Amino acid sequence: MTPAPLKNLPPSTDVMVVGGGPAGLATALSLRVQGVNVIVVDGATGPGIGSRAAVVHAASLEELNTLGLASKLIGEGIPATEFSFRDDENKPLMNIDFSMLKDVTDFPMILLIAQDVVERVMVERLAELGVRTMFNKTVIRMREIAGGEGGDSGRLACTFASGETVIARTVVGADGSRSLVRQVAGIRFYDPRTKLEPIPSKDVIQLVLADILVSGPLPPTFVTDRPLTTFGSDGMVMLYPLKSPPDCPRGTYFFRFVCSLTPEDPEPPSVPSVQYIQNLLDARGPGSRLGKAMPRVVQVLTGSRYRTRSAIAEDFCSLPPRHGRAGAIALVGDAAHIHSPSGGQGMNLSICDGVRLGRALAVGTRYALSAYARDRRAAAQRGIELSERLMEFANVRGSWALGIRNAAMRTMMKFQGKQRSFALRMSGLTDPNDLWTW
Ligand SMILES: Cc1cc2nc3c(=O)[nH]c(=O)nc-3n(C[C@H](O)[C@H](O)[C@H](O)COP(=O)(O)OP(=O)(O)OC[C@H]3O[C@@H](n4cnc5c(N)ncnc54)[C@H](O)[C@@H]3O)c2cc1C
Repeated sequence: MTPAPLKNLPPSTDVMVVGGGPAGLATALSLRVQGVNVIVVDGATGPGIGSRAAVVHAASLEELNTLGLASKLIGEGIPATEFSFRDDENKPLMNIDFSMLKDVTDFPMILLIAQDVVERVMVERLAELGVRTMFNKTVIRMREIAGGEGGDSGRLACTFASGETVIARTVVGADGSRSLVRQVAGIRFYDPRTKLEPIPSKDVIQLVLADILVSGPLPPTFVTDRPLTTFGSDGMVMLYPLKSPPDCPRGTYFFRFVCSLTPEDPEPPSVPSVQYIQNLLDARGPGSRLGKAMPRVVQVLTGSRYRTRSAIAEDFCSLPPRHGRAGAIALVGDAAHIHSPSGGQGMNLSICDGVRLGRALAVGTRYALSAYARDRRAAAQRGIELSERLMEFANVRGSWALGIRNAAMRTMMKFQGKQRSFALRMSGLTDPNDLWTW
């Protein structure tokens, strides 16, 4: 029987998930469908909003399908079969056709859907399963209960800013890139190339993101049935068409806009204005270099700036040797890995981490948790590698280098095998043993 959602924090639980983003919600759903007691806490005042991820890939849809969510999400988004890359004269560089994956997945597509919609659907499903995400609950301390403190020895005591303490057998750190859980567990978080901490730096490429409404009719260089990335001489512009939110003015189109800035560009505003986005679109939008008029930006619904950097946790699990299964700490999502949004991997890795961790925790053996940590760390490394390659390709400078990059991309796309391995890699369906090279 589905339990009634809790109103207050309980004194103890089997699993406490810290963080109610996509990773934490996926973990809780995966545990709940297997009958494990779980609570989800989040320090924010409510569900996340704003410009973040905009695509769900096939591997995530496969995992979400096991939670009964794939068809609901497909209904709420735009299922696309292609992802196009063009140069700044709007000539094709690469076209990835996901329909070629129909022999390996029931979801040979790239689903265009905003992260806040994905989170809302997951929160609703979790409520159906009797779990309410508890907001305004920030974990400020976590410690292992010592042997002399009674029967809870080895379990983890989490203290909240609101004063309560909850004792959990297992704590899942789904608390984002600055994860407190990861820090308390003493797990290192470093750039996989340099092995150093990911320190914010002005040398790192900066991106501007915005959810925008533009007025129609759209010029032919704009597409509404697939994501379009323009690799120009000033970096890249990505346009993801999304389903318009309710109450949008008639005749407008809704896009997620992402633009990389060059080191010579002035510092972007922390919240981009309509005029700022219009200027970027006019200068770097698809076909702008050909003198094509860009559509008018009517409204910026949300926007932010973002410095890309990569980091991975040294281990995705911490299993204390002394107390059997009690006191295990596991990491999912951005708490375990971060990288640029290029390739749309962040939310997807997070969802897959969560579903896989839920299954491993339901089995409950050290072997299952170690396998989770090993497999998902390898998946995160592949995601980081893909996003870094795409950022390198996007930010090539100088006419010679641009010519070589463009020729290389066009040549790659002539080979079905390359196209397929790229589609597999982007979808998260890659066989870990495959030899993937550009
Ligand atoms: C500006 C921006 C743009 C992005 N663009 C893209 C994109 O285009 N494509 C893409 O794939 N990904 C993108 N991402 C990344 C994507 O949003 C993340 O990968 C994804 O949100 C990770 O999910 P998560 O659940 O691990 O973490 P989050 O979504 O960060 O959720 C963590 C949650 O933990 C809570 N929390 C933190 N500390 C505590 C605590 N001590 N106690 C309780 N709760 C706590 C927070 O309130 C938050 O709700 C973007 C991210 C940002 C910030």
